[in-house]
Amino acid sequence: MAAFELNDLSGQVAIVTGSSSGIGEATARELGKAGADVVVNYHGEERNADAIVSDIRAMGRRAIKVQADVSDEADVVAMFDRAEEELGPVDIVVSNAGLQKDARLADMSLGDWNTVISVNLTGGFLVGREAVRRFRKKGLREHVSRALGKLVFDSSVHQVIPWAFHVNYAASKGGINLLMQSIAQEVACEKIRVNAVAPGAIATPINAGEREAHLDDMLKLIPHGRVGDPEDIGRTVAWLVSDAADYVTGQTFFVDGGMTLYPGFRGNG
Ligand code: NAD
Repeated sequence: MAAFELNDLSGQVAIVTGSSSGIGEATARELGKAGADVVVNYHGEERNADAIVSDIRAMGRRAIKVQADVSDEADVVAMFDRAEEELGPVDIVVSNAGLQKDARLADMSLGDWNTVISVNLTGGFLVGREAVRRFRKKGLREHVSRALGKLVFDSSVHQVIPWAFHVNYAASKGGINLLMQSIAQEVACEKIRVNAVAPGAIATPINAGEREAHLDDMLKLIPHGRVGDPEDIGRTVAWLVSDAADYVTGQTFFVDGGMTLYPGFRGNG
C-alpha cells in the first residue's frame, strides 16, 4: 500500500520541541507509533525525557533526548546538529514548546511579557527557520514522503479567542498564526508543508491549576463535554505530517471539542 494511504511515517526523523511532558510528549509517542524516529527535546524534565525515549525505542524506533532552550538560537542549531548526527536528516519538525506567565495587564512585568514572547513566538521562528534550512539541505526523499519537509506549530484557540489576563500568551499565539501562514506561503512551492494545530483545553501541566480550580467553568466552554487528552492533539499532528495530508498547507486545525463554536451564543446568545 502506498505511504499516502496510511498515516505511515516509517523511515522519517522527527523533532518535537518541549516533548518531555503534555502535548509534546503525546505527539512524540504518536509519531513513534506511526513509524518515525524521534528527537525528544526537553528544557527541564530530563527524567521524563529518558522514560519517553525508552518507550519509543521499545516500539522499535530510534529515539534520543536533546536538551535545548527553543528561545536560544545556538541551542536550536545545536539540537538540529545532534538530530542529524545521531538519527540522520530531519523530515518532520513540531514546534510545540510553550509556556504561560499570567497576570492582569496592569500587573504584567516586562520580564513576563518577554519570556512568553521569546519562548512561544521567537522560539517558533528559530525552530521553523532551522527546519526549513535543514529540509532544503536534505533534499526530497520520495521513498519516505512526497514532501521535502513538514513543519507543524502548536498554537492555541487563543490565536483567535481574546484572553483577558493572558495578553502575552494570546499575542504570542496570534503571532504564530501569521508566522505559520507566511512561512507556508514562502515555501509551499518547494514542497515544504507548514501547518498548525490549535488545541482547546487539554489536560496537561500547563493548566493543572486552572483545571483544579475552575473545571466546571471550563466545561461550560466545551460543547463536547470533556477536557481534551494530549493524544487528541498528538494523533492530529501525526496525520498532518503524513502523506495522507499531502495537499494540506497553511492551515490551522482547531482541536478543541467545539470551543471555537462559542457555545455561549447557542440559543438566544
Ligand atoms: P506543558 O507545560 O506540559 O508543555 C510545555 C513544554 O514546553 C514543557 O515540556 C516545557 O519544558 C517546554 N518548554 C518550556 N519552555 C521551553 C524552552 N524555552 N525550550 C524548550 N522547551 C520549553 O504544556 P502543554 O499543554 O503540553 O503545552 C504544549 C503546547 O501546547 C504549548 O505551546 C501550549 O501553549 C500549547 N497549548 C496547550 C493547551 C492546553 O490546554 N494544554 C491549549 C492550547 C495550546
